[in-house]
Amino acid sequence: MKISDTAFSHGFCLRKNFFHFIIPAVLLFWMAGCSKEEPPRNLKELISEALAGSVKADSIKANVLWLESMGTRFSLADNRRQVAVAIRNRFIRMGYSETRLDSFMINVTYRQVSYSLWQYNVIATLEGLVQDDTASIIGAHHDNILSSSSGDPFIKAYGANDNASGVATVLEVARVMKKNNYIPKSRILFITYAAEELGLKGSYAHSASAAEQNLKLRCMLNNDMVAFCPFTDKQNWIVNIIDYDNSHELRLGAETLAKKYTCLKFINDNKYQKQSDSYPYSLKGYQALFFIGQAPDPNYHTLYDVSAACNFDFCAEVVKLNCAILVEKN
Ligand SMILES: [Zn+2]
Repeated sequence: MKISDTAFSHGFCLRKNFFHFIIPAVLLFWMAGCSKEEPPRNLKELISEALAGSVKADSIKANVLWLESMGTRFSLADNRRQVAVAIRNRFIRMGYSETRLDSFMINVTYRQVSYSLWQYNVIATLEGLVQDDTASIIGAHHDNILSSSSGDPFIKAYGANDNASGVATVLEVARVMKKNNYIPKSRILFITYAAEELGLKGSYAHSASAAEQNLKLRCMLNNDMVAFCPFTDKQNWIVNIIDYDNSHELRLGAETLAKKYTCLKFINDNKYQKQSDSYPYSLKGYQALFFIGQAPDPNYHTLYDVSAACNFDFCAEVVKLNCAILVEKN
């Protein structure tokens, strides 16, 4: 689905009014009349279309540039708490009142030196209609690292595609949901993870505490390296949707939504299945997916991983896909 900018600018006011006034009325009717039923199918379609219509490649680009401008986001660097606080403040500025730093300790050896350091995941919550023990997660790691031949990550590690793109995806989903006054059935947790590059530390910590608290998840969506796509021809805009033994159905549903709401093509190549933050959730029995651009990124873990090498229109399509899945699962 792709509407022209002109068509969209004409339709937006109507759609915005519709969304602000009519949809809450429909929701109230649905809640009063048949609270155990699914909302009508076309309501989810309207919501997904409105969210997709609000996604802006420029807004994603601005967030990637901002993350890149921090110089380094290496998780052993002194600014690691500052990075997390800055991301939390971004959620607060969008209107998210429930945000927190989720701290945990790591013990690692890096280039022959041992470190015991506090780390900080960032968690922002969009409250649901029902406040129960169920949630959905959209996440991405906010740290970066350099290969040993590429330099010293304590000084510089820009990580635009890896993984400012994932963080910007999470922020953009949060922005368009807030802007459209979207209320999910149960709460959505927007999480950016610390210390992924040192062994998925942030997602191991959060998935363990989620399982301990018997949190039920409708889905966990992980975005890692979702802005590298060197092709102008959209026929070659391919996202790899990685799944796990328990999430094949979730992936098939995601593929249907990708056809409906995005111009993305997709593949399912699970070779990186264990190499990002969705994996610890799958180990805890949660249904998780991992989105990554299909084209191999030649700038991976080098100082050339900068926003100039990113394709933000491609990333915007990945944002639309995340939105549609979260709406579908709620
Ligand atoms: Zn990464």
